[in-house]
Amino acid sequence: MDIRIGHGYDVHRLCEGRALILGGVQIPYALGLLGHSDADVLLHAISDSLLGACGLGDIGQHFPDSDPAYKGADSLVLLRQVVALVQKSGYRVGNVDATVIAQKPKLMEYLPQMQKNIAGACLVDPQRINIKATTEEKLGFTGSGEGIAAHSVALIFSA
Ligand code: MG
Repeated sequence: MDIRIGHGYDVHRLCEGRALILGGVQIPYALGLLGHSDADVLLHAISDSLLGACGLGDIGQHFPDSDPAYKGADSLVLLRQVVALVQKSGYRVGNVDATVIAQKPKLMEYLPQMQKNIAGACLVDPQRINIKATTEEKLGFTGSGEGIAAHSVALIFSA
């Protein structure tokens, strides 16, 4: 069995007049994330960890933010395309472990739906997808509420 691991990290700025979408879930909040696509920072970190595991670069190379095709793009659709690339490379998703770093809002109640959405896109059982949320104790740009960050590690394998 060939097993590979990848890491992903992403940050988006919070601003007014945008929806807050994390893990494919629209979360009621006064601010949303700024970006060319829907700016789903969690799905971007997960996509990057999967591409990294495959040795396929990052989502910026596959879905450039200079391309009007990806304006307002649903990042769950992009994640499905990334998983198709994983499969094309001869691998399947083993598991994903990701953390969203946000001072606000509280994300706990939305984590199960995020897990379900991501498992669906990754074509795996939800138990293979672990999503966590934490604050950074009011420190730095996440702590001040300027932005939200996400980290992800993913394991892929070929049987
Ligand atoms: Mg991004």
